[in-house]
Amino acid sequence: MNLFKGKIKCKLCGKNYKVKKEKKRYIYICSGYTNQGKDFCSRRVISEHNLIFLCKGKTSAVTSVWIEENVKQIFVGENKQIEIEFKDGTTSCMLDDIIYRQIGD
Ligand SMILES: [Zn+2]
Repeated sequence: MNLFKGKIKCKLCGKNYKVKKEKKRYIYICSGYTNQGKDFCSRRVISEHNLIFLCKGKTSAVTSVWIEENVKQIFVGENKQIEIEFKDGTTSCMLDDIIYRQIGD
């Protein structure tokens, strides 16, 4: 899937995150890093799994339609800090590693 297409932005370089399939999982990675290398931006990978988890406080069914209607923008910052801005004005914010520790692989 590519549920979060066009929604994720890198807080460090301002480029969009692009989806990639890695080991049967969907991940997102900064296009600044993939296109211009490690001198431009660092390699910070976010799994789709973890983004869905962050949306779960809002709905039980995270679908592409729901995301389109409710998610305004997602930022990924230093230490893989994920910030989801919802269209209702609220935000959901957590470190990727913390989510990973809560839900596993
Ligand atoms: Zn970047």
